[in-house]
This record gives sequence, C-alpha cells and structure tokens, in this order.
Amino acid sequence: MKDYRFDFHLHSCLSPCGSEDMTPANITAMCALAGYDIIALTDHNTVGNCAAFCEAAKQWDLLALPGMELTCVEEVHVVCLFPDLEHAIPFGDYVRRHLPPMDNDPRFFGPQLLMDSRDQLLGEETAMLAGATDIGIYEVAALVRDYGGLAYPAHIDRDSFSVLSNLGLWDSEMGFSLAEISSRCPPELLQRPDLAGLRFVTGCDAHYLDQISDPKQSMNLSEKSINAVFHWLINSQSSG
Ligand SMILES: [Zn+2]
Ligand SMILES: [Zn+2]
Repeated sequence: MKDYRFDFHLHSCLSPCGSEDMTPANITAMCALAGYDIIALTDHNTVGNCAAFCEAAKQWDLLALPGMELTCVEEVHVVCLFPDLEHAIPFGDYVRRHLPPMDNDPRFFGPQLLMDSRDQLLGEETAMLAGATDIGIYEVAALVRDYGGLAYPAHIDRDSFSVLSNLGLWDSEMGFSLAEISSRCPPELLQRPDLAGLRFVTGCDAHYLDQISDPKQSMNLSEKSINAVFHWLINSQSSG
C-alpha cells in the first residue's frame, strides 16, 4: 500500500471562468511539479477537454480521471468523476442536452477554449456553460452512477453554489456519501449534525495555474489504478 496525493477539482480554459493559461498541457505539468499522483479535470458542465487532459497526463505519469463540475437546477455544484472517456463522454452529451438553450457570450462570461494535449486550439465551445442545467440535485447521484461514475457535492462550505448555502442543510436523501470541502473550511462546520457520517475530500478548485496548490490530501491504495481510486472513493477515509 502507498499514499497517493490527489486533487479532483481543476478547471481548464474550457470553463468560461478558467484562465486561458489553464490548458490541459499546462495543468498536468503544474500538477506534476506540485507533486500530485492522481488528478481529475472538472470543467463546468462539460467534459470537452478531458481527452486532451488524460493524454497530456501520460507524459508525467499522472493518473488522470475525466470529470465535470455539474451545475444543478438548484445552482448547486456537484463534482462528477468517471473511470474513462468512454463513460464520461456520453454523460457530457447528456448534460449538453440539459443546458440553457443559449450561446455563450465570451465578452461577458469569458471564452470556452477546446484544446488538444499539445496546446493547440481546437475551437471554442459555443453552448453557454456558465448557466445551470435543469438536472435536480436529488437526481444526480443515481444519474452519474448510471453512467458509470461517482458524484459528490462541491465546496459545501462555500456561501454560493453549494448544498449548504442553497438548500440550507444536508439531506441524506440526496444519496451522496462523500462531500467536498474547500481548503478554508472551518473545522467546526464539519460537526454539524446533518453532516454526521459523511466523508470529506478537499478540492483546490483551481481556475488559474497559481491556484494549483501543494497537495493537501492523499489516498492509500494498493496500486495507482482507476479501480483502486473508485474503490477508495466509495469505501475509504481520507488521510492527511
Ligand atoms: Zn464550484
Ligand atoms: Zn470548480
């Protein structure tokens, strides 16, 4: 068994609010330099840069998971992780059909850049990724599981786009056993009775290269594999 440092909340230049420097090549290089072993790309409501991200990660010996930060109809953000592109892409197609029916305005929300793994611009995503989908928070856990992935609410300690800010409390009926907290989460928040029994991971939620912080957590695995990661997410506790 060995400890592997991880972060599963990173945005690329495809997220309208993500820096144009957050190309898949740059993100993976920065994560390797920072000492990560396992990372995931979670752009808002899209998996469009995940193929480039997974490809770019190979040269750094990083284990990369395709993912998404889904915006539910309640304007709650949820981290969705998939074992591979074959599972992530159909989910991305599903989410695309549930986006608001309008185009992105790059002047207002920022550009949405589709990249390859070598920093070549492939094009721009025209759909408006910044808005909320019509997918309800109570649907998400089972929906993502149906697509072969795993979901958990993002940054629950934040005062916007979070379960606690938008719904007021944690309801176990949502079906999540894991929650993400930010690195600034006050420890006393985790003592709330409605959070009893939940497990927590931290996500750096980097939108800029300098927000890719040093690793804050690790998972103890028998091997660095997608199967081991999903087993850990479903069953294990975070260590340090
Ligand atoms: Zn978020
Ligand atoms: Zn985010």
